[in-house]
Amino acid sequence: AKAEARGAFRFFEAEMDARLQARRLLERDLRQAVADESFEVYYQPIYSLAAERVCGFEALLRWNHPERGFISPAEFIPIAEEMGLIVPLGEWVLARACADAVRWPDGLKIAVNVSAVQFTSASLVTAVREALRSTGLPGRRLELEITESVLVANPGVTTAILHSLKGLGVRVSMDDFGTGYSSLSYLRSFPFDKIKIDQSFVRDLCEEDGTDFIVRAVIGLGASLGMTTTAEGVETEAQLLRLRAEGCDEVQGYLFSRPVPIGQVAGLIARWNGA
Ligand code: C2E
Ligand code: CA
Ligand code: CA
Ligand code: CA
Repeated sequence: AKAEARGAFRFFEAEMDARLQARRLLERDLRQAVADESFEVYYQPIYSLAAERVCGFEALLRWNHPERGFISPAEFIPIAEEMGLIVPLGEWVLARACADAVRWPDGLKIAVNVSAVQFTSASLVTAVREALRSTGLPGRRLELEITESVLVANPGVTTAILHSLKGLGVRVSMDDFGTGYSSLSYLRSFPFDKIKIDQSFVRDLCEEDGTDFIVRAVIGLGASLGMTTTAEGVETEAQLLRLRAEGCDEVQGYLFSRPVPIGQVAGLIARWNGA
């Protein structure tokens, strides 16, 4: 039994070594990729149910790793945060997305994700101002998506940053709403323009014991706070019908389109909004 335990431990150790090794390699490649700017920004359309047309796109980062192929941002963003690389990487996405969006028809907005670490970094407001200035994109066409974690960490600082951003004319959205720890009433104290209903709630819409009542509550909350509501991860006609019936303002998901490279954006705009 003792020998067996020792064997199991060695196996465990080897496993740990392999994981650490893989992580170190990924860190090295990520550092290199940030230096070389070897990322791409993909765009997913956001569809307005009232206007019945695409009203903007969300910028989603893609890393095409030389050996491993596409690596999900859900995997590499947390590592970039830990390594302090998220600030330069996030600023690169911001500049790229603004430069792409300024060529689209004027009504279309661009939504850019901002990680909690980047949000509270000293350079965020300057980086946003600079991205707008250098590309000529009007502030009203830029939306920044922020998750609940930034609210809980330091509400005073967060409020100040949000107001500076609003001073630039930029809109701010609460992303993945309902998955964090902030309460419904908490949202009221921050000047958000939009609530994004997390895809975990959209997925279980119309299911038995589904999340319809949660989605209804969030849409009602948004309406009473004067905020736009956007549902993400919409994959089926049934989900779309329900969201429309509940008065959701905007939808986003594979039902309309997956995120696409910049070269396919004009085609999507033509397809949904006419030439
Ligand atoms: P998110 O901000 O919640 O983005 C939505 C995610 O859902 C994206 O995954 C998108 O591709 C995916 N999605 C869209 N429609 C559907 C659908 O109908 N069904 C399903 N199952 N998924 C759908 P993605 O691109 O892999 O990004 C994952 C997360 O990584 C994002 O979640 C965001 O938190 C983060 N991320 C992506 N790009 C950036 C970035 O530039 N900066 C920062 N800080 N985070 C980013
Ligand atoms: Ca987002
Ligand atoms: Ca989201
Ligand atoms: Ca998410």
